[in-house]
Amino acid sequence: MIPLGPPDVRPEDVAAVREVLTTERLSRGPAEARFEARAARAAGAAHAVAVNSGTSGLQLALRALAPERGAEVVTTPYSFVASANALLHEGLEPVFVDIDPGTLSPPADAMDAAVTSRTAAFLPVHVYGRPYPAAELRHLARRRGLPVVEDACEAIGTRIGDDAAGSFGDLAVLSFYPNKQVTTGEGGVVVTSDAALAERLRLLRNQGRVFAEDGFDQVELGFSYRLPEMSCALGASQLDRLEEVVTRRAAIAAAYDERLRELEGVTTLPLEEPGRRVSWFVYVVFVPDSPEGELRDRIMGGLRAAGIECARYFLPIHLQPLYRERFGYRGGEFPIAERAGRTCLALPFFHRITEEQIDRVVETLGATLAAERRGAPTASSRRGR
Ligand SMILES: *Cc1c(COP(=O)(O)O)cnc(C)c1O
Repeated sequence: MIPLGPPDVRPEDVAAVREVLTTERLSRGPAEARFEARAARAAGAAHAVAVNSGTSGLQLALRALAPERGAEVVTTPYSFVASANALLHEGLEPVFVDIDPGTLSPPADAMDAAVTSRTAAFLPVHVYGRPYPAAELRHLARRRGLPVVEDACEAIGTRIGDDAAGSFGDLAVLSFYPNKQVTTGEGGVVVTSDAALAERLRLLRNQGRVFAEDGFDQVELGFSYRLPEMSCALGASQLDRLEEVVTRRAAIAAAYDERLRELEGVTTLPLEEPGRRVSWFVYVVFVPDSPEGELRDRIMGGLRAAGIECARYFLPIHLQPLYRERFGYRGGEFPIAERAGRTCLALPFFHRITEEQIDRVVETLGATLAAERRGAPTASSRRGR
């Protein structure tokens, strides 16, 4: 079996975690400070606050801005559900804007045009580690006096010019879930260059308590969203080799691209973006469109039958059952995101993937597509009979 995206954990990571376990400090200790310092540097921000997941981080970032309940936040429908779930947790309403097929994010001016008197913030996402038009959106947001919460959960190491993903929002969030470029097991970090916001985030992640002379004082209702020292130690160790990881992932993307370029019916994402560095989160290709994405799903069946893991990245958020039910979406509202959702296919992509494995994935994908074109039953449809 070729897995989709297992983490790359090395002996030095194991040693760092083991070291923590020999001490008596398993939470709120020196590893947290070390991890936060490295995350802040990677994201080009002054302050970093470690939390127990990227989703918790998004929720705290929104809470720290204290928008009114029921306010609107302009965001993208083409993302992992966490980016909009955080809004629902905070009683905020997502206002989705369709994407540009080139960046896979909504254009900045289209997000700006979705602003109403009820808008409290923008929540853009660097999808797959590919930058959204961050400088443009920041400019438009400042003109309106609205904050930007930058979802950089898939984009640690991404750069626009010399600026790192994580430095474009008033607050930004990184995720360290095991399928991300670097991991803490579970975990996230909120980064900001605003010291007062950082202070609020620290308060909110620890029950809403502030440090007082003789212990802690409860000043407001916060959360229990701290990240354990074991995870922080793993993250600090992983972040030590971020550049190596980003470079290796770009090389794997290039190896796929070279083999896929000639494959009829498969569209790949550009390897190079002028003035930008993509930190590849997943390797996604687009196959021909079909009603309900049934062709893509049959291709996935063919790959899986050959022992190759793959996934849909993403089913657009507004088409998720919860969002259909709550907001009445029926499909057709955001055609570009929906088309991407019907045609996207994530292939195995991880640090230790071999040339032979990449060959096998591409050959199997080619054979499955060719079989579909001939109308011949593939392994998966045969199995179903
Ligand atoms: C991974 C991810 C998150 C956060 O996920 P967690 O599992 O909570 O760390 C948020 N937004 C996007 C776009 C993501 O890909």
